[in-house]
Amino acid sequence: MLKLADQRTHLVLENYIGGKFVPCSRHLDSYDPSCGEVYCKVPDSDKEEVEAAVKAAKAAFPLWSSKNPQERAQILNKMADLIESHMEELAQAEAKDQGKVVTFAKSADIPLSASNFRFFASCLPHYTTECSQMDHMSCMHYTVRTPVGVAGLITPWNFPLALLTWKIAPAIASGNTVVAKPSEMTSVTAWMMCKLMEEAGIPPGVVNIVFGTGPKAGEALVSHPDVPLISFTGSTVTAQRITEKSAPHFKKLSLELGGKNPAIIFDDANLEECIPTTLRSSFLNQGEVCVSTSRVFVQKSIYNEFLQKFVDGVRKWKVGLPSDPTAQMGALISKEHLEKVKGYVKIAQAEGGKVLCGEGVGALDLPERNQNGYFMLPTVITEVKDDSCCMQEEIFGPVTCVVPFDTEEEAIQRANNVKYGLCASVWSSNVSRVHHVAKSLQCGLVWTNCWLIRDLNMPFGGMKASGIGREGAKESYEFFTEVKTITVKH
Ligand code: NAD
Repeated sequence: MLKLADQRTHLVLENYIGGKFVPCSRHLDSYDPSCGEVYCKVPDSDKEEVEAAVKAAKAAFPLWSSKNPQERAQILNKMADLIESHMEELAQAEAKDQGKVVTFAKSADIPLSASNFRFFASCLPHYTTECSQMDHMSCMHYTVRTPVGVAGLITPWNFPLALLTWKIAPAIASGNTVVAKPSEMTSVTAWMMCKLMEEAGIPPGVVNIVFGTGPKAGEALVSHPDVPLISFTGSTVTAQRITEKSAPHFKKLSLELGGKNPAIIFDDANLEECIPTTLRSSFLNQGEVCVSTSRVFVQKSIYNEFLQKFVDGVRKWKVGLPSDPTAQMGALISKEHLEKVKGYVKIAQAEGGKVLCGEGVGALDLPERNQNGYFMLPTVITEVKDDSCCMQEEIFGPVTCVVPFDTEEEAIQRANNVKYGLCASVWSSNVSRVHHVAKSLQCGLVWTNCWLIRDLNMPFGGMKASGIGREGAKESYEFFTEVKTITVKH
């Protein structure tokens, strides 16, 4: 079997343009989060590399877009097979590059990356377009859908391959060609995947990957006049910049952004299930999940019981090396991010918050070689006001705030009192309460008595500052195609 990367050597990545690996003359350092050392060089692409990739994607579009959708689906299925056959290697690489624990990369990131290809291969060919008759005018109307052209895809570092394939798969399944730019901090698995494209049967130019930073490669892609569509997942601040840069071109935009997600726990909740799930929702993947819980509202009558059991669980949550199969949390993505997350804990203390466990309270137990890695303990803060930084801003790390509430209406109002609106979880055994609260929350996703159970068919995404548009089976198909209504008078 083809070996995708020799992890023992210093990796030097290349762009993938027009079906070929193309070296770049400038590079960025990429760090191993578990020890803080440079282990990989990533192309520092700019306008010229993006230009070459867009040209290749444009040239490949006529043939790819006119293929039988079933033929495209077969290629996507082959891509899924190939990712699955390289599961172990890709999972190891993802954990090393991102800092997440390898057990999670194996159970989530890489299986999801394969299933993204398989899912869109199976659902997209089955969509039919609409038809409406207007007999009194002797007319009928119908719609046709066509691929848009070259899709620009920009993705973040928390689920590097999974979020990239979640965009590539629907884009190419519906006949577009793509230029993708993964995060400069986690480019390795995207580059490894490029080595599988030829074998999968993806024709040259259909998928092009350009590596580099947002301000250079990212903006060149967003501003390119031949890229009519941008699908972006990342921070709200970057999305504002992308919106400004793409506005003069009237591009189609899909924006999947940050969150400040609440869990609302009522006194009739099943705590046996709620506590371990809230632990996971707060600290899985180091809390670097867009749908992570970061504000926990607990009804007053069970507040002390919840807090004690929750903090006991957090203290047992094991921080370890990404390669440690018993670790539950690995390293954060970068030194800057670690400092930013720790900074929020300091701000919370300055604003009157109390740190119950984690940062500044407990101690990490790491091997000598990993002392400079970007690790921190899962941290729980209480006694914070709703308008404090930690209750308003996305921290995107292993820090969660727990506060009490009295009534249902109060919980809804306080949960909605942020600029974000990505997701929430609600815990109660009262069915009518669950429905009422879920409906009243200003967010795109609500999990009741559970968290992060996904059906890829369903719309995924946020409202308010958490995004514009949704991704999912039908939503992605609609986004990656243009619709036209045709009226025929007979
Ligand atoms: P980021 O916005 O810093 O970067 C995301 C991507 O945008 C990277 O590839 C980056 O290089 C690129 N970029 C940066 N500046 C750019 C510019 N000016 N023009 C074009 N591209 C640019 O985000 P991040 O730190 O990589 O990721 C974390 C954020 O992503 C968090 O806010 C998290 O909530 C969000 N996120 C959201 C979802 C979701 O589905 N809603 C999923 C995962 C992550």
